[in-house]
Amino acid sequence: MDIERLSKEIKRHRKLYYDGNPEISDMEFDGLVNSLKELSPDHPVLKEVGAPVEGKKIIHTTAMKSLDTVHTHGDFLKWIKVTGEDLVCEPKLDGLTIVLTYKKGNFVKAATRGDGITGELIEYGKRINGVPLILEDNIDIEIRGEGIVSKKYAESVGAANPRNLAVGLIKRKDGGAGIKNVTFKAFQLVNGHGEETELEEIFRLKKLGFNVVDHDIIDRNNAIEIFTKWEEKRPNLDYDIDGMVFKYNKKTIQEVLGENEHYPKWAIAWKFTSEKAITNVEGIVYKTGKTGRVVPVLQVRPVKLSGAVCVNVTANNFGFIRENQIGIGTELLLERAGDVIPHVVKITKSIGNVHIPEDCPSCATMLKWDGPNLICQNNECPAKKLALIQHWIDKMEIEWFGPAAQNSLIDAGYLNEVSDMYQITLDVYKKIVGDGMGKKIYDSIQEKKNCELWQFLTALGIHNLGNRLSKQLSKRWNSIDDIIENLENTDIEGMGVIKGRIVKALKLRYVEILKLRSQMKIKDNKKEGGSKMKLSGNFCITGTLSSPRKEIQAMIEENGGTIASSVSKNLDYLVAGDKCGSKLAKANKLGVIVLTEEDLMKRIL
Ligand SMILES: [Zn+2]
Repeated sequence: MDIERLSKEIKRHRKLYYDGNPEISDMEFDGLVNSLKELSPDHPVLKEVGAPVEGKKIIHTTAMKSLDTVHTHGDFLKWIKVTGEDLVCEPKLDGLTIVLTYKKGNFVKAATRGDGITGELIEYGKRINGVPLILEDNIDIEIRGEGIVSKKYAESVGAANPRNLAVGLIKRKDGGAGIKNVTFKAFQLVNGHGEETELEEIFRLKKLGFNVVDHDIIDRNNAIEIFTKWEEKRPNLDYDIDGMVFKYNKKTIQEVLGENEHYPKWAIAWKFTSEKAITNVEGIVYKTGKTGRVVPVLQVRPVKLSGAVCVNVTANNFGFIRENQIGIGTELLLERAGDVIPHVVKITKSIGNVHIPEDCPSCATMLKWDGPNLICQNNECPAKKLALIQHWIDKMEIEWFGPAAQNSLIDAGYLNEVSDMYQITLDVYKKIVGDGMGKKIYDSIQEKKNCELWQFLTALGIHNLGNRLSKQLSKRWNSIDDIIENLENTDIEGMGVIKGRIVKALKLRYVEILKLRSQMKIKDNKKEGGSKMKLSGNFCITGTLSSPRKEIQAMIEENGGTIASSVSKNLDYLVAGDKCGSKLAKANKLGVIVLTEEDLMKRIL
């Protein structure tokens, strides 16, 4: 590629990357940059680090350079210019860089990194998880860090790439509803405040109330060891990382090394390698899950990726298939970056013969679109029933009752819905699945009849009603009837429209719930845990308290209370610390009970 084309390509891919829409992998991008560096070291494109700015511009007080990258141990060693000195090493979070500004310890604004000189204002920046509104110190300060989204959350909303999702959530004009799922981890205090080492700086960040990136102090001989350790940990982490960052610990050495036009010379990013391969779609199979969502799987021409042969790729949902026009013959670029399941990086050749099913593969009911998902709305759908039965068995930890036994009982007409498994007699189990296995299944079902309310709720397999939410609801209410009656009119942190959907699903399943309830022994929260649960009702916190807000929230939840994000007439208590503003006024107006931190502690201790 000539210089002209190379620079254009770099510009184009850089913009795609910052829009959360990359077409090539990071390593390929770095490859383009390196080629241009070789051909034309002073090319102006190399100086424009970052993305062109589109929203409200924010000029950074201190220009933010990017990090130089290496891809091999050899190149890493070449970077070491001063030997025998400690290095601080931390995982390179794969999110987007955010700059926070505080005046006299109060949050002023959050901005994206942009091109390093000018960033973009993040409209709902103060709602980012882990961004304190008031610091533990009354100072003017600028903090840099990474905004990340957990893999779990990305998966729950069907996003293939958490980083792209983080970029999307930050830019979304939705009143800040999405941005709460972005977590801020601090890694730099701009221009320092007299710290002599990186470690002191990290300590200072923690004291100010920030979550910091994990870090280790090492010398260069341990670098390969720690790099490998994190590369191995990578697939099991809840967030994406794409390499390791190494910095000299002492600020005096950082000053001696200085920086060039593009990079500080005292820090380096050593990137993990990821493997990519091109293949073609040979088939699209799909099945209906427990909530009726039809999930497509792409069958591809077998290709080797990171040592394993890959034949199936998940496509999240049919919206993805429709949007990308994926059909038989479509050429895809796959990447496996430490993850167990390879994902589609981009469509390299679209064939345009995309096929979207019209009917449920299990019951032939006409499918309906719900956002990016195709849904079977038939409550009698056998695939949904089978998936619900399997889910119940998993959540109740019933043993021996596998798909083969379930299918035999379904085919014989005994098992039609979850509650049937409690009605089937020992003789029938023995007759259908054999004496030995039949008895084992029957015994396990009998043994697992005692459960907690939250376990019962989770086992129902209702969309969005997982472990965490079930626990939260069962702490607040004592029965499913109470939940159905009260949930919609209660303010619960993090629950918007899903409240209504959950209530609707519980009502739809109510007859079955009654049947199940008559068979099971659900532990009564109040009787069993009455002495432990000191709080009830929902609590909102405002102002500055003696411990970080998260700790107080956790304490309230542990003691049986729930957390609300705003003050409304449905709020039970407002816990007010120092310097609280509008929330306190509103609570007083609405007659909400206001507690001081001391009042709260008296109730708990
Ligand atoms: Zn169906």
